[in-house]
Amino acid sequence: MTYQNFTLTVDADGIALVTWDMADRSMNVITAEVMAELDAICDATVADAAVKGVVITSGKDTFSGGADLKMLEGMLKKAALMRRADAEAASKLVFDESRKLSLLFRKIETCGKPWVSAINGLCLGGAFELSLACHARVMSDAEKAKVGLPEVKVGIFPGAGGTQRVMRLTDAQSGLTMLLQGTQHGAHKAKALGLVTEVAPAADLISVAKGLLKDGKVAPVAAWDRKDFKLANRVYTPAGMQFWPAANAIYLKETADNYPGARAIMSVCYEGLQLPIDLALKVESRYFAHVLQTKEAAAMIRSLFVSMQDLNKGARRPADVPATNLKKVAIVGAGFMGAGIAYVSAKAGLEVVLIDRDQAAADKGKAYSLDLTSKDVAKGRLTKDKQDALLARIHPTADYAALADCDLVVEAVFEDRQVKKDVTEAIEKHLKKGAIFASNTSTLPITSLAQNSKTPKNFIGIHFFSPVDKMMLVEIIMGKKTGDKALAVAMDFVKAIKKTPIVVNDARGFFANRCVLAYVREGFLMLAEGVAPSMVEKAATMAGMPVGPLTLADEVGLDLSWKILQATKKDLGEKAVDPTQEKILKALVVDQERFGRKNGKGFYDYPAGRGKKTLYKGLVDILGAPKPAEAFDMEHLKHRYLAAQALEAARTVEEGVVTDPREADVGSILGFGFAPYTGGTLSFIDSMGTTQFAALCDHLAKKNGPRFKPNKLLKHLAETGTSFYEHMAGGEKKAA
Ligand code: NAD
Repeated sequence: MTYQNFTLTVDADGIALVTWDMADRSMNVITAEVMAELDAICDATVADAAVKGVVITSGKDTFSGGADLKMLEGMLKKAALMRRADAEAASKLVFDESRKLSLLFRKIETCGKPWVSAINGLCLGGAFELSLACHARVMSDAEKAKVGLPEVKVGIFPGAGGTQRVMRLTDAQSGLTMLLQGTQHGAHKAKALGLVTEVAPAADLISVAKGLLKDGKVAPVAAWDRKDFKLANRVYTPAGMQFWPAANAIYLKETADNYPGARAIMSVCYEGLQLPIDLALKVESRYFAHVLQTKEAAAMIRSLFVSMQDLNKGARRPADVPATNLKKVAIVGAGFMGAGIAYVSAKAGLEVVLIDRDQAAADKGKAYSLDLTSKDVAKGRLTKDKQDALLARIHPTADYAALADCDLVVEAVFEDRQVKKDVTEAIEKHLKKGAIFASNTSTLPITSLAQNSKTPKNFIGIHFFSPVDKMMLVEIIMGKKTGDKALAVAMDFVKAIKKTPIVVNDARGFFANRCVLAYVREGFLMLAEGVAPSMVEKAATMAGMPVGPLTLADEVGLDLSWKILQATKKDLGEKAVDPTQEKILKALVVDQERFGRKNGKGFYDYPAGRGKKTLYKGLVDILGAPKPAEAFDMEHLKHRYLAAQALEAARTVEEGVVTDPREADVGSILGFGFAPYTGGTLSFIDSMGTTQFAALCDHLAKKNGPRFKPNKLLKHLAETGTSFYEHMAGGEKKAA
């Protein structure tokens, strides 16, 4: 029999080699067709008396990224339609459908012939679950080979046996950490954890895997199916009794119980470890079907998998502009941001001209890359040769003539209109015809900066977030006159450096910073109302934000916030800034020179060395004594944080800054960590319903001030119950 996605050959020793290699995909994924073929292969190898055992591997660089989540999305949509007529049938459909993969893997595990997975590269999610169901795993020692179960990051959990097999193979703490954090392991770590059987040099992978079978070292029965199996991670033992309460406490602290997927991992492991494997797998399936139907899973799969993939593939790139083959870029301004942009560009293989006012400043910018790469070399994550090659691609200079052959220039000089004007003119003297000019400004509208350029159609904003090497989002800003070619080149650049782009129209603060400002301001206002600083921070992390607003303000720099506030006032007038926020910032920055983490004092005191930061005791003198915690409702505070940001996102939609809901959602999670379990700012509103969200905002406006008043668009959508996704796709509902 021939297969579409696999080849099957049997050698003279009776070992079947199953090679997974999907013709139309760059990476193997588990689809319905793949499942059907694997099932058929299992039957065929069992039926063929000549086959003694099976080695499964991949014909690609990677093993596989796991299940195609679009398949799950499709099934959920079908169930959602059914649910209106028959809720029970819909739930049964989800259970039966989502269980198929688990049953298939169990079939392989109990088929009676030994299977060995030969893991040649990245092996994630469902693909690693398949490997775990094999009777042995041989893993390549290549750097790119990694195993992991990242499902929790998109709101679900490994539901095809992953939780049960991991918790039976490794110690409870390592297993649970891996499942809850979605961590990936290289071959040696995976072996040390007991997750793989052997590590082999890449070139010998298949022969080692076959060798295991030939030598009869692999029994066709999983350890947990043997009568003499002794489960190490038993729950009702002194060790188990110590482990689980502590694990629960850590789980709560890390997740604030916001993620049904993570919560299910805790239950499924705890319950599953008390059951024989088949029952345990059934329990896992039940939880999996339940989690799949939560709004959190739907929102996270949509934003963090489907939309993110679409954006990374260039969903917003003008299709008729041919791909730019970027080879050399220039970065002007080798400061904090410029140095980071130079690093990520050189890391992606681009030649980089790094320009600053003098050679010393440019060299300092390059030294940043030396510093980062040296740390990687010390940790064994980068070879010395690769470091040298990366550094050799960065050419620091003070001579603007060096940018003459670049296709793209990114300007990252001081945030000062005059400096930017002078630099733009200096760059354009040397810039070749047709090259694109991008500014990394964080606050100045691109349209106004483009006035300094002779060719505004080639002028665009490429707004990075700090630290550049860690933050995955890049905001691309269209000025009024920016043309398609500039957008295409900017997107090709962002793709080359492996970041996720969102494309927004020009406005003060663009998209992300506007929402962040609303978030931080809410924290300031809570302080002024007498909420204790620790509660201001806690409410934010319990709402799902990665760090509290005071921590964030300290990280960004209180002096910078003060400067931005003053600049906003100058440009837009007194009313544009919040007087409470101004008063607190003035007391900290102007009166007490507390600039944030950078000078060791802000809302927190930062001890020298590695000591733990503590909240600044002098805040009492600025704010007065806080009121008791009972004076505030935690749920209300949490709502304030999320609603303030989501409402700001709704305003950016009304103003035409954001035109695609996927960008608001992905941008808010990657750009400022907006509570990921919500799927992003607009998904947060849509899952609640625009009608309910508008009512919440009305309530908050009454209680906390007019900044929460729903904008016109939100009111309009609330009247008809139209979601932002429907509205932005042009599908407005009619009033009843
Ligand atoms: P920075 O002060 O660290 O660096 C600015 C660099 O520009 C300095 O090295 C300076 O010597 C150089 N420079 C000044 N005038 C120059 C000239 N005439 N020619 C060449 N080089 C010159 O500032 P930064 O934080 O890296 O910010 C740079 C830009 O990035 C600003 O527009 C800022 O708004 C934007 N930005 C900053 C952040 C952030 O978090 N710091 C985030 C996003 C965007």
